[in-house]
This record gives sequence, structure tokens and C-alpha cells, in this order.
Amino acid sequence: MIEIKISLVKNVLEANERIAAQNRQFFADKGVMAINMMSAPGAGKTTLIEDTIRSLKNELNIAVIEGDIQSTYDAEAISATGAQVVQINTGGACHLDANMINETLSQFDLNLVDLLIIENVGNLVCPAEFNLGEYCKVMLLSISEGDDKPLKYPVMFHEASVLLINKIDLLPYVDCSIEKIRQESLKINPDLTIFEISCKTRQGLNDWHDWLKALLLK
Ligand code: MG
Ligand code: ZN
Repeated sequence: MIEIKISLVKNVLEANERIAAQNRQFFADKGVMAINMMSAPGAGKTTLIEDTIRSLKNELNIAVIEGDIQSTYDAEAISATGAQVVQINTGGACHLDANMINETLSQFDLNLVDLLIIENVGNLVCPAEFNLGEYCKVMLLSISEGDDKPLKYPVMFHEASVLLINKIDLLPYVDCSIEKIRQESLKINPDLTIFEISCKTRQGLNDWHDWLKALLLK
């Protein structure tokens, strides 16, 4: 039984990898940089994406894929910025996979798009295991979630290229050590780039914008 299960999981991930490679080629052909944004529910992904689109609207053409189990709230919020957005409702699935992304690609006009932000389903576990064809993964962790998350969910910290520690304006009100998050994240992934941000006070957002703009030069 166990052997069958393991080989099934392996087949699913291999099939996903094949489609992710097609998506990656598609993005390369269109000259689009795609990033896969992951976090727990409520960490602030949508708010950050809205803010990023508005802040960089004169510099970057950004499109968004919104992944949610259900509802269109987040896609409507993104749409209000004027950016192209396609919603994926996973119908219960707790992560996006490469095939879901592949099926949205015909709904975009990506010719003028510089950056495609894929907002994954809020979940710290399996989104990290499914490549979508992205250039890199960006993880958001809000300090109200606690500083024990790197040890509890190491795969996501390992797969991410960037960790955005969000809601740092709440620091006086919560028991959370940013230093502990930094140290334990870097133990798991020494190459991780870390920014401390708050969409409320706008602290740290310039560094995030500079990082994105530098990405587009790659
Ligand atoms: Mg959201
Ligand atoms: Zn899942």
C-alpha cells in the first residue's frame, strides 16, 4: 500500500513538473517574469499585490493570477487597480498546480506585461511543493503568525527566494521575535533574501520595489 502511494505522489509531481516547464518556456517567450507568492491565509498577499501594482504603475506592467479555494473578492480588489487579473478557483484544492496556470494563459494578453504575480492559495504546506513555471517563489509571513513558523513549515522557507516579514507595525502588540524568524529561516535557506515590511506604514516597501525592478533586468 505504502509503495503504491509513494509512486502516485511521485507521478503527480513529475506530471506537474512537465507542465511547469511548458509554462516557464511560455513566460520566457513572452518576456514575462513570473513570481509565485505564497503564505498562510491573512498574511497580506492581496494587499501587498494591490499596493505593488499602484506603487509601480508608471514603471512596470503587472498582471496577476489570483488563486483561491472559492470566491472572487481578491480578484475584484486587484481588478480595481486596473491590472489584468485572472481568477482561479481551485474548488477545494489547497494549492495551485502548473496545469491550473497553463489553463489561464490564453486569457491574458501578456505581450506588454513585465511581471506576472501568481497569488497562491493561503496555505504554508503544499503550495511549496508544486512548481508553476515561475522564476522564483516569494513568501510572506506576518508577525502575528508567530516566530515558530520556519521550524514548523521548513519546506516553504527552503523553496522561497524572498521572505517578506509583513505587518511589522504590529511588533509592539505581539510576542514575536523578528530576529528569531531571520535566524531560523536562514538556517533552512542561507540564500534567502529577507525584507521587513508594513503595507500600513509603508516601511520597507521601497526595498521590495527595488528588488522587483532588479528582477526585471535579469
Ligand atoms: Mg488573497
Ligand atoms: Zn494542497
